[in-house]
Amino acid sequence: MEQTIIYLDNNATTPLHEDVIAAMNRANELYGNASSMHAMGREAMEAIEESRQAVRDLIDAPEGSIVFTSGASEANNTVFNLFRERIDLGSKRNRIVTTTIEHPSIIEMVAHLRELGYTIDLCPVDHTGRVVMEEMEKLMGDDVALVSVMLGNNEIGTIQPVKEIALLAHHHGAYVHTDATQAIGKIPVSMEELGVDYLSLSAHKFYGPKGIGVLAIRKGVPFAPFFHGGHQEGGKRAGTYNNTAIVGMGVAARIAREELEEESARLWKLREMLREGIEASIPNVVVNGSRDYCLPGTLDVSFPRAEGESILLYLDLEGIMVSTGSACASGSLEPSYVLLASGVDIELAHGSIRFSFGRYNTEDEVHYVLEKLPPIIKRLREMSIR
Ligand code: PMP
Repeated sequence: MEQTIIYLDNNATTPLHEDVIAAMNRANELYGNASSMHAMGREAMEAIEESRQAVRDLIDAPEGSIVFTSGASEANNTVFNLFRERIDLGSKRNRIVTTTIEHPSIIEMVAHLRELGYTIDLCPVDHTGRVVMEEMEKLMGDDVALVSVMLGNNEIGTIQPVKEIALLAHHHGAYVHTDATQAIGKIPVSMEELGVDYLSLSAHKFYGPKGIGVLAIRKGVPFAPFFHGGHQEGGKRAGTYNNTAIVGMGVAARIAREELEEESARLWKLREMLREGIEASIPNVVVNGSRDYCLPGTLDVSFPRAEGESILLYLDLEGIMVSTGSACASGSLEPSYVLLASGVDIELAHGSIRFSFGRYNTEDEVHYVLEKLPPIIKRLREMSIR
């Protein structure tokens, strides 16, 4: 008998699109070093430049802004590291402002920099996970070097008012970074419209390969490379080009751009079907995040008196794959820091499940989840002694 597999963990990573696989298979033949001057090098570089243009089109980024990295973690770390270097060099702007619900690639960087003595302020969010603008205003000042706020949250899907934040930060003379990793392919993302100076993204969140991403850097803003070495990427990021992955990301970017509108509507429909079904069939559930400002494919739900990890494991036995809290925190039994920062009660933060939809999910799969989930919650609640 064929095993049911219902993959509802697309915020953790997505499967490769078949056109991406085909393009990468072809690109495997492009083994020339793209920095070589001979024909094979030039051929590889041509393919890389095509991908650069595709990513640029996808995020409406200024010319010359796209720098390939190993993913969004590297892109995020690069931005924080370059401002740390500026502070070390004696810049009077020596404070960084970010939020309490960023991805671990920023939260952990913040912890590290704080340990080293740097001043980093975390702007609080409201109960829906949105940045509280009055608090952000209070944190501004002429000593702020960088403001970094993610566009869409990986766990609860909350979309931040990045454009307003960028206006505010620029008014105070600070530079602005956004981690747009989760927003790509789900909502329109325009670097020009957002007005940010730096933007991070990662191919494996939109049906491209893992280990490749981008840091888009506006011309004229401060920059210092994280990796030193060869002169790839105009000296902004050393290391031999990963031809195959870059080509794969380019194809994924073109598809994401072409299908954005349709895909966004489809993901929201599936998400709403599941939300309505859960609310109708399971008593006492709490939908986390924002209703009005939410990534279309993300549904994060707390089930009081049922532990998130237990729900996950029972769903896994039925072939349904989800996450508790953020994927990077799963494996530990810590409550979700994103929910705690949003003021969610610790018990609810322990019992949250993230369902995240992608292009291959169907309405039939939602029906299957709605058949399997209610008895699991019922059983776990009956077992609960709390
Ligand atoms: N930022 C966000 C918002 C993410 O969701 C992720 C992936 N979980 C990352 C950064 C890290 O991306 P990568 O896997 O490319 O390092």
